[in-house]
This record gives sequence, structure tokens and C-alpha cells, in this order.
Amino acid sequence: MNHYKKADNILQTSDTCLRLGMQHDDFRNAAHALIDRIIDYQVTVPQRQTFPNVKPGFMRSLVPEQAPENAEKWPEVFSDFKEVVMKGLTHWFSSGFMAFYPCGGSYPSTLGEMLSSAIGSLGFSWASSPSCTELETVMLDWLAKALDLPKFFLHNGTGPGGGIIQGTASESTLVTLLSARDKAIRTLLSVDPNQCRHDINKRLIAYASNVSNSSVEKAGKIAFVDLRLLEADDMGSLRGNTLLDAIKEDKKNGRIPFYVCASLGTTACCSFDNLEEVGPICKKEGIWLHIDAAYAGTALLCPEFRFIANGLEFSSSFNLNPHKVMMVNHDCSTLWFKDSSHVRNAMTVDPIYLRHDDSKSGIDYMHWQIPLSRRFRAIKLWFVLRMVGLVGLRNHVRRGVAEAKHLEGLVKTDERYEILFPVVLGLVCFRLKPDILGKKNANDVNRKLYEAILGDRRFFITPASFGGKFFIRISTGSMNCSTGKLDELWKVIHELTHQLLPECNGVI
Ligand code: PLP
Repeated sequence: MNHYKKADNILQTSDTCLRLGMQHDDFRNAAHALIDRIIDYQVTVPQRQTFPNVKPGFMRSLVPEQAPENAEKWPEVFSDFKEVVMKGLTHWFSSGFMAFYPCGGSYPSTLGEMLSSAIGSLGFSWASSPSCTELETVMLDWLAKALDLPKFFLHNGTGPGGGIIQGTASESTLVTLLSARDKAIRTLLSVDPNQCRHDINKRLIAYASNVSNSSVEKAGKIAFVDLRLLEADDMGSLRGNTLLDAIKEDKKNGRIPFYVCASLGTTACCSFDNLEEVGPICKKEGIWLHIDAAYAGTALLCPEFRFIANGLEFSSSFNLNPHKVMMVNHDCSTLWFKDSSHVRNAMTVDPIYLRHDDSKSGIDYMHWQIPLSRRFRAIKLWFVLRMVGLVGLRNHVRRGVAEAKHLEGLVKTDERYEILFPVVLGLVCFRLKPDILGKKNANDVNRKLYEAILGDRRFFITPASFGGKFFIRISTGSMNCSTGKLDELWKVIHELTHQLLPECNGVI
């Protein structure tokens, strides 16, 4: 009781300070100064060392063991941010960052994040914050049209389709897998209601290629669904015959094929599954076809890259991450359903405290995703689409591809290296050719070269392997990548190759 009285007194004397953590004017001053620091960061980040010189656990000795009992002031807190956090940051916007795939970002998107965080509105149902839902449905339609997706994905199309913003591609894959499973089980129960759901679940089988992202395998693990990773062809593409053979074999063994996750732009080598072959098979077999285009999907903004999605009309769901190449900050992963009733069937739980009068006409996104609550992510997408514009975004995609072509040209000038996969978008995969390495193991030497580039610290890159070959992948198109920086990288690779293999000198 005493505690409540004390708290009440404090609230009366220092109300704003307690509720907002700072006084209005202190926040105004700190925020204005922080914007300046953010701009300074953006100006200097291209030159910053990409990967920090720290080891696991470095932070323990720099911060207290426990949270402070009493409130601290902003200058102290921000000073610690600079001393403690900046020390161990990987600078994803550094010009030397060429690892994974790029993470999006831009000033319009940052403004959207600031507003979303300040408003703190959670639009899980239409009624919980109507603008959150309404802006999201409009943005998903804008984007579907800009990408030239099939019309059945539109909210305001004639069918039951529509889109949602999920946090990540991993969640999108899991949500579609769970929706497809629910659909398959319902269909089988409608034929024979006496079957047991769990017995059906045991017989279900899903497919993806062995080059698909790790998140696809993870979705199978979480959903407790058998997921078969099928052998991609030499170019990393899942082909129709491979899928058909697997389906036939599994059906013979009493299994029920129900879901395929096809990739457009795999993480390892930016390869593309053959939707024109896989799609008709899924259609004939009544299998849900999900498309993971987390990275490559943004390229569909450019008409010249739309060929990568030939066969998209066969898909049941489609996902891409605007937080990769679309200049939107993490997290923003757009997912479209051809028929949204399936996800709602799989996800809807209906307690009284979530009901509202407009649930028949308004969308309740809580029934389209795993969490209940959700951030207002559509603002940042809206700001980027309006302030960069489709022309600006297309130029951004094209710049990344031009950079990759530039690097491909450099690699091809030196016959000691080979390009392993066609350079279609912003990824170049190469290695030292086995035939110049004599008796040395090509994978070992290429791994050493990769480790040497990473150890040099000027560039942050990631390797991959496919078909038993270890290779180096260079991802272009990040915010501050440039052809000049790729020239620098190529020089570093030359130097390090020379140190590693002094006997194999090449010409720059
Ligand atoms: N799919 C592909 C093809 C990816 O490249 C990635 C990440 O790079 C993912 C899925 C996972 O994305 P997320 O981190 O949004 O789950």
C-alpha cells in the first residue's frame, strides 16, 4: 500500500518525466543533437572498418552487472553508447560490407521508423488501430502492382487474395507452411472426417531445393513437418523432373505431398528455381507453391529482370524482403496470398477481448501471422515508395547489378579464377580454379583465400558451397558499395592470392 502512495506522489510531482523517461525539452534537445550524430554517421560510415576488432564477451567488462536503481541522464547514457556499443558494431552500411545480402536503409525509412516508434500503435486487429491496417493493405497493393505480380495477390482484386508485412522471410515461410498444412488437413478431413489430424500430419511431406535458405529447413523443423531437400541442377535450380520423381516416390510410400518452397535468388549463389516447370506440377498435384524471393524479389520492379519470375502465376504465396534491396530498414518482409482464407483458417483464435464490430469488413492481421501484436511497419514503406519513387528504386537495383557486372568483368580478366554461376543480379560467386592449384585441394586453398580477405579487415564477405565446391560470394548493391570499392577489393584479392600462392602470379 505504501508503495502505491509513494508512486502516486512521484507521479504528481514529476509526471512527464516518469511517463516519457525524459522531460519534453530534454528530449527535444537530445533528439535534435542525435539527428546530427545520425547524419555524421551516415557521412562517415562508408569509410568505417566493416568488421570490429572484438572477441565474444567483450562487452561484459564495459557495462555494470545490473541495471541502475536510479535514473541516469542522457549525456552519460549516450556517451556509453559511443564507448561500448560502437566498439563492437559491424557497419552494414560501410562501403566494404559485401557479405550476406545487403540490409536496406534510407532517410525516409528512418523517418518512418521514428514515427512508428513514437506513435507506438499496434495494429493487430482493424479496430486496434485502423490506420495501421489500412495503410498496410494499400502499400501491399501498391507494391504488388509495381512488381507486376499476378492480380490475384491484390486486396482490391476480384478474389480472396491480399498481402501483409511480416517481420522476416523466415516467418513468411513458416506462416505459409502452416497455412498449407491446415489446408491439406481440412481437405482430407472433408473427404473422410473419421481420419485423425495427427495421422494425416505424419504423412504430409514438403519440398524445397538443397540450395534453399536455411530458414526453409527451420520452418519444417518448427512445424514438425518432413521437408525433403531436393537436388538442384548444376546451376542451383530446382527442376520439374526432380520434383516429379520425388512426388511419385513419396506417394508410392503413402506420403501426401502438400507444399513446395521455390526460391528466386538463393542465398548461396543467387540461383532461380524453374517455376515454369515446378508450377504446373504443383497445380496438377494440388500442392501449395510458396515463392521465397527474399532478396531477388525487389528486382521485379525493373521490367528487364521480370523473366526471373516466369511461372509466378502458379504460386499460392509470394514473399520478398523490402528490408534487403528496397531501401527500407529491417524489419519489413512483404508476403502475399492468392487466397487469404487459408492463413486465416490456420491462425485464427477468437477470444472475446479481440472481437470488434468491424471484423467482417476490416482486415484483422493478427489472423495472418504468428504473433498477436505487430509494429506499424507500413509507414516506412510508404515513405520510401513516395520519397525515393519507383524510378529511384529501379535505379538502386540497377546500380547493384551494374556493380556485380563490373566485378564479374574483373574476375574474368584473370584466368586463375572462375565465375561459378551466372551473374544475374547483385551477387558474384567465384573461386581459384582447381587446375592452377596442382595437387592442392581447391576447397582448402579457396577457404584460406577467404579467411585471408576476412582477416585483412578491409572487406566483410561471406563464403558458400554448392556441389562440393567452396567459393567466395561478393554481394554488391549495399548502400555505399561502388565500382571503385570493388576495384579496391579486387586489388586486395590479388595481393592475398599472391601471398598464398607466390608461384601463381597473375596480371592485374
Ligand atoms: N530467403 C533467402 C533467399 C534469403 O537470402 C534470406 C536471407 O538472406 C532469407 C530467406 C531469410 O531472411 P530473413 O532474415 O528475413 O528471415
